[in-house]
Amino acid sequence: MADEVGVMYLGRLVELAPRRQLFTQPRHPYTRMLLDAIPDLHATGRARTPVQGEVPNPLSPPPGCTFHPRCPHATARCRVEAPAWHAQPDGGAVACHAVEEGRLG
Ligand code: SF4
Repeated sequence: MADEVGVMYLGRLVELAPRRQLFTQPRHPYTRMLLDAIPDLHATGRARTPVQGEVPNPLSPPPGCTFHPRCPHATARCRVEAPAWHAQPDGGAVACHAVEEGRLG
């Protein structure tokens, strides 16, 4: 139904990608966690991992990357500096220091 899919966290777009790219090779840690949390409707035996942590108060969001309290890839930089929006070669874009630094495969 859609050519591109956007993923938002706490009211901000964190990833935008062509549909197939987003579902087969998600970049942002939140996108990855959302896909891991999808129930296994086809009973393949794939383990489902609920998204960990609590949603912060959007009226008082965490500093830096607002996803850092829940992100397994967060570093000191993530706690103080909001990630910039970076265009990707496939036409998508993502806002994540770990992706920018090449720390995520
Ligand atoms: S910027 Fe840091 S905290 Fe935010 S999603 Fe990327 S790795 Fe996680």
